[in-house]
Amino acid sequence: MKELSQSDKKIILESIRDIQDFPKAGIVFKDITTMLGDSKAFKTLMDHLADRYSEYELDYIAGIDARGFIFGAVLADRLGIGFVPIRKKGKLPYTTVAQKYSLEYGVDEVEVHIDAFGDRGLNSFANPSRVLLIDDLIATGGTAKASVDLIAQVGAECVECCFIMELKFLNAKEKINTKVYSVLEID
Ligand code: AMP
Repeated sequence: MKELSQSDKKIILESIRDIQDFPKAGIVFKDITTMLGDSKAFKTLMDHLADRYSEYELDYIAGIDARGFIFGAVLADRLGIGFVPIRKKGKLPYTTVAQKYSLEYGVDEVEVHIDAFGDRGLNSFANPSRVLLIDDLIATGGTAKASVDLIAQVGAECVECCFIMELKFLNAKEKINTKVYSVLEID
């Protein structure tokens, strides 16, 4: 597995746009749409992730609603494995399992289809499907933790969480009960 070079990190980092005070005052929103529109940066990122995860013997990539779908679906296709969407409450049409998590004000909920991880998902605790969870950014870690718990609830195993960016000062890694890999660590 190749490490991401400093120059490739710079290509990816510089393609992401900072939006001050969005969606509310005091937040610096990391806008990945500029990276998606930059074919060199997007390819640099996806080449790196495909290289890193080619040796993990994964069965599925699970992406978090909604930006995790973009990276997750491309990566799943590159690796020749299935993609599973973890969605916000009320979006999935079939039978779901749900996990609540706290926000700054109130609670939110993520859901997954009960059979999303195939025959080796539910009721296969001896030989669970190996899943990589992916999202664009980890801040407090609430969404990721709920998603890891959800994957376990349907009988699969989250072997690693991958984020394009990690806001290091929030120390979210400590909350998450599995390995975490962040492409870019933001101080
Ligand atoms: P959290 O549950 O606090 O880790 O928040 C993670 C989710 O919120 C991810 O799906 C991110 O896409 C989004 N998010 C949180 N903070 C930011 C930020 N500063 N810029 C972009 N997205 C963010």
